[in-house]
Amino acid sequence: VEAGQADAIYIENGGSRIIYDAGQGMGRMEQLIYEFGLRGDTIDMMILSHAHFDHHGGMREFFKVEHDITVRYFVENGDPNTSIALAELRDSVEARVSRGETIFRDADDPCGDGSAICTVTLGGGAKLHLMKPMPHGNLNERSVPVKLLAADSASFSMWIAGDAENATLRWFEEEAGYHQHPGMDVDVLKGNHHGSCNGVTTRFLELVDPTWTTFGASDTNGYGHVHEQTKALFRDLGYNWYRTDQNGRILFHAPSSGGYSVSIERGGMNMDGGADDWASDSTCGEM
Ligand SMILES: [Zn+2]
Repeated sequence: VEAGQADAIYIENGGSRIIYDAGQGMGRMEQLIYEFGLRGDTIDMMILSHAHFDHHGGMREFFKVEHDITVRYFVENGDPNTSIALAELRDSVEARVSRGETIFRDADDPCGDGSAICTVTLGGGAKLHLMKPMPHGNLNERSVPVKLLAADSASFSMWIAGDAENATLRWFEEEAGYHQHPGMDVDVLKGNHHGSCNGVTTRFLELVDPTWTTFGASDTNGYGHVHEQTKALFRDLGYNWYRTDQNGRILFHAPSSGGYSVSIERGGMNMDGGADDWASDSTCGEM
């Protein structure tokens, strides 16, 4: 969903609800809690990609007593960061864990049994592969990867990996072997790191081979996202994108009858944004 310069992803299947990152603004999340009618409901799994504010800031809203929202599983990698908001979020999760209301899963051991991949089945039969992140690196590089699959494992799939950077993308293939299991070829890619040019390589795009890519960015972000180098690479290789700053909410609907559709609130595909710029990042353009 549209959440400024941030990521916020909501997955629903057969009554199961999963949230992967929740933007930075609590006010925005409050609006969405009302719009989606989530008060008094259960979020089956809340996944924080990594310890940056533009991914966890809005999560605190879901833990407000007034919303009466149950969070069954909370997953994150526990990396240290000196954010008061993150400390507040972790305090809320810990309090619920101590009351037996929430189960905490360390993303580095997603099933709690030492295996690298934990597969969760949603109420409608869709599957979510929760994968262990790269064990070393900066906060972005430690982003938790997940792969979502429709119940028939064929008609729809999506790859999501927060703000993963190039070193992580190489690790997925060369060390973790995720291209073989659970496989990285998907219909939809959540564009890494808001479209930063340090979150995409030619090799990665070839492996994932997405029909659509989504970028979570704001029209006024100070990072130059979506970077011109990223768009140039997508154009060169013939890949299409939508972006929350120009297209608003980006919705993928995969009915149990098969296939999937994509809808946006406004604009068209492959748009430029007000903040887009060329990056001078030295890791940009690695292939
Ligand atoms: Zn971010």
